[in-house]
Amino acid sequence: MFERRNLRGVQLLHDPILNKGTSFTEKERDVFRLRGLLPPRVNSQEQQVARALESLRRKDSDLERYIFLIALQDRDEKLFYRLVLDHLEELVPIIYTPTVGRACQEYGHIFRRPRGIFISLEDAGEVASLLCNWPYKDVRVVVVTDGERILGLGDLGADGMGIPVGKLSLYTACGGIDPQLCLPVTIDVGTNNEELLSDPLYIGRGHHRVRGPIYDALIKEFIEAVQGLFPRALIQFEDFGNKNAFRLLAEYRNKVCAFNDDIQGTAAVVLAGLHAAGRFTRKPLAEQRYLFFGAGEAGTGIADLLVEEMKNGGWSEKAARRCCWFADSKGLVVSSRHDLAEHKVRYAHPHSFLADPLCMIEAVRPAAIIGVSGQPGIFSERILKRMAEFNERPIIFALSNPTSKSECTAEAAYRFTEGRAIFASGSPFDPVVLDGRKFVPSQGNNAYIFPGIGLGIVASESRRVTDRMILAAARALAAEVTETDLAEGRIYPPLARIRGVSLKIALAVANEAYDQGLAAAPRPSDLESHIRAQVFVPAYTNYV
Ligand code: NAD
Repeated sequence: MFERRNLRGVQLLHDPILNKGTSFTEKERDVFRLRGLLPPRVNSQEQQVARALESLRRKDSDLERYIFLIALQDRDEKLFYRLVLDHLEELVPIIYTPTVGRACQEYGHIFRRPRGIFISLEDAGEVASLLCNWPYKDVRVVVVTDGERILGLGDLGADGMGIPVGKLSLYTACGGIDPQLCLPVTIDVGTNNEELLSDPLYIGRGHHRVRGPIYDALIKEFIEAVQGLFPRALIQFEDFGNKNAFRLLAEYRNKVCAFNDDIQGTAAVVLAGLHAAGRFTRKPLAEQRYLFFGAGEAGTGIADLLVEEMKNGGWSEKAARRCCWFADSKGLVVSSRHDLAEHKVRYAHPHSFLADPLCMIEAVRPAAIIGVSGQPGIFSERILKRMAEFNERPIIFALSNPTSKSECTAEAAYRFTEGRAIFASGSPFDPVVLDGRKFVPSQGNNAYIFPGIGLGIVASESRRVTDRMILAAARALAAEVTETDLAEGRIYPPLARIRGVSLKIALAVANEAYDQGLAAAPRPSDLESHIRAQVFVPAYTNYV
């Protein structure tokens, strides 16, 4: 930072952290030799936000808006975050899902400036020296992907880098973690996406995915290098393929400070939604059945956390598991099946095998259907109507991303349940008006959870991320849903309140870290003020 402070002239204008564009004051222009390099009029940050917003809204596609925003982030980070923070509901869907998915699909074609660290197989043995090239030495949050399962879009290889970049933007925008503490990483072990392999503009190495001991050794080297160079960093595994995601989480969660947002973050946000939905249904969690469509990272992660919460409510693990039913691509997950991956076996109950979703609904009679299958439209009209026949307030969570993969639309959910559905989606849907009644769909966005978890971990310097922290985060989020939110049909607070929500989640997580003896930072007398003081505020400051 000291060296950066000595920047002058054009170099200063090209430094995204220090650059203030036309907001450099007269005095700064003199001292830093900016005279003549900037237009004469000095603007306030608000004026620059207005200008950026006008340019942004003039673009005619969300992908173009994404490109504009990334360019702004590369040019003037404070202006980027001020703009995003002031317009969260409008811009989160651009810098994250659904637009980021489209951006990753086109990444090699829209690529401008690199951000983050790329590690490929050829770098084995050199990972620590690669990480040393990162210009900031106090890294506290690392988001890492190997690009194998980007959102619901599959294997995008190194083009998946848009995800760690976007996710870390949300750590800052929604959680207030200083962007200089954040490091996006892509580990390029190849891709099995033939289209990318034959695309000359693909940014990764042009070979198929490597698995087995070579893969494991590279991941291990990476984790150890992060530990050595950035010992206080939280490592967030992101969008790894199913098998590796579960394996890596199991391998590292008790060794380092790591979590997987697709598994645990999703679980927390959905559990918070179920807690809030309980304020409509007035039924305890364990007195209902849940039918998950999709038995992957998201689905089994949610069920595992739900089971933990039911156990806290006094239920046995067995009884809690019996409430959770799964369907995968083949059909109902039942104990007579011999083709089940390990993470599904614990939810395989004795029942005859069923392949038809409607028959599953008839058999399980769930209070909630939770769609994490990536199969658009699987919540058909008949399924939604049937859910409304045996539930006063059917819980319909269509969580697959992006919007095109959603198990049903918000409109279908409300229309076919006579407006009684408690609906949440993964990607945003606009409000729906039916027979003059307005319904505000909830978005079960992980952005409600991971920034707050990150902030709590950073503030307490926790050495681990535990289930108790994840449960505390879910409860803290549910507690932020007001009666007014519920009256509008919302089971999550509006994104506009996210900074306050993240602070409460951070407080709950940090408290757990201290109570569990995992915090390396000394416990402050006023934890909330301590966390609040660490929150990044994207306002320009005067350098002289
Ligand atoms: P995954 O690949 O690990 O799992 C997908 C699962 O869906 C697999 O078990 C597969 O067998 C199953 N499936 C496929 N076709 C099916 C069908 N016809 N019926 C039932 N199941 C079927 O993926 P994941 O990480 O679990 O994510 C799944 C989806 O959930 C993605 O679209 C992702 O974007 C979304 N998601 C949403 C949120 C959120 O809203 N907060 C968070 C995480 C993931």
